[in-house]
Amino acid sequence: MKPWLAAARAVGAEVASRHADDVDQRARFPAEAFAALKKEKLLGIIVPKSEGGAGAGVADVVAICHELGQRCAATAMIYAMHQIQVACIVRHAGGSAWLKGFLKRLASDQLLLASATSEAGIGGDVRSSICAVEQQNGRFELVKEATVISYGAEADGILVTARRTPESPASDQVIVVVPKTGYELNQESEWDTLGMRGTCSNGYKLRARGEMAQVVPVSYADVSAMTMLPVSHLVWSALWLGIATDAVTRSRACVRAQARKKGGAPASAARLAEASSQLQLMKANVVGSLRQYEAALGSEDAIAAPALAVAMNNLKTGTSQMAVQVINQCLLVCGLAGYRNDSPYSLGRNLRDAHSAALMVNNDRILANTGNLLMALREDPGLLE
Ligand SMILES: Cc1cc2nc3c(=O)[nH]c(=O)nc-3n(C[C@H](O)[C@H](O)[C@H](O)COP(=O)(O)OP(=O)(O)OC[C@H]3O[C@@H](n4cnc5c(N)ncnc54)[C@H](O)[C@@H]3O)c2cc1C
Repeated sequence: MKPWLAAARAVGAEVASRHADDVDQRARFPAEAFAALKKEKLLGIIVPKSEGGAGAGVADVVAICHELGQRCAATAMIYAMHQIQVACIVRHAGGSAWLKGFLKRLASDQLLLASATSEAGIGGDVRSSICAVEQQNGRFELVKEATVISYGAEADGILVTARRTPESPASDQVIVVVPKTGYELNQESEWDTLGMRGTCSNGYKLRARGEMAQVVPVSYADVSAMTMLPVSHLVWSALWLGIATDAVTRSRACVRAQARKKGGAPASAARLAEASSQLQLMKANVVGSLRQYEAALGSEDAIAAPALAVAMNNLKTGTSQMAVQVINQCLLVCGLAGYRNDSPYSLGRNLRDAHSAALMVNNDRILANTGNLLMALREDPGLLE
């Protein structure tokens, strides 16, 4: 096992799981888990070795998100969102000395990055912006009504989407890397939600300024298509799989306890088998999609191809629904023991956290987008092509 996966597994089992209920109940940042992840240097693993990172890949982040998702979904989601931002800088920094220097600092100081894509007035349409980069003498300013910035108060930097200039249309966007010293956040809404409470995804008015060198030198359309969208769907799906895996683990323990009491397999064992079969489908979807993304990584054409976008969208809409279905099955397996909040088989947090999956970029939006892509797509390739 790779050392960072072993370290993440230990942080999940020994730290994140211990504080998960408190993080959920108090809707607080999982500070203990992040102190441990930073201590293990897990925030900079995908930074290239030339910039002081470990040179790990998306597959490693996927595996870590799956581990953490089984212990504390909020910790896993924050870790996932951070790594999505890092992946965007790593892939699209080009020759930018500023961005490379920032990656070095991220790896050495274990900086935590947040994301401000959502904006008042555009809803969840991440491919549109109202705010714009206002440039003067090599410097910029921007003001964004950011409806949701997860762990905004705890982050060391934020990646912000905005129109390229005040004259640009809503879809001509760039993404700007802003370290904490370059922004102010005025909190405008609180995060008191059904689940994913520890992500502390408050709304803020964000005012940022800095050098134009902080603007990623590739259009956000490309950053989104090649990196942000596929990596988001992969790492999110991995942690949703983690939430569902934990539910199956809990219901397996419950069935074992019932069997010990009864002296034989209880009727609920058959439903456990059904949940396990759904979980296997979900896992195959995550692993298969990851392999498809990795195979496309070396070619600009393959990574921008509609077929890959369809596969990544299907992964997100599919796993977000299946996580809830698996947990629902598990609830039937455990019965009241799963419904209770004070039982070792409790599934309440799993179910509440998993319900965020379909809304985190609404599935209806993604399905509409996939429908459009499908009209342009040729035949499906053969099974093993
Ligand atoms: C746990 C969590 C953490 C998050 N963290 C962040 C973060 O750190 N940074 C950030 O920027 N954002 C974050 N978000 C916000 C997220 O990415 C989306 O912007 C947000 O979920 C969209 O919210 P919405 O439902 O209000 O808006 P919309 O997506 O606009 O949806 C509103 C309604 O309109 C419908 N709808 C809208 N468009 C269409 C369409 N084209 N076709 C069909 N139906 C449509 C939807 O079905 C829905 O009913 C987070 C969300 C969650 C759940």
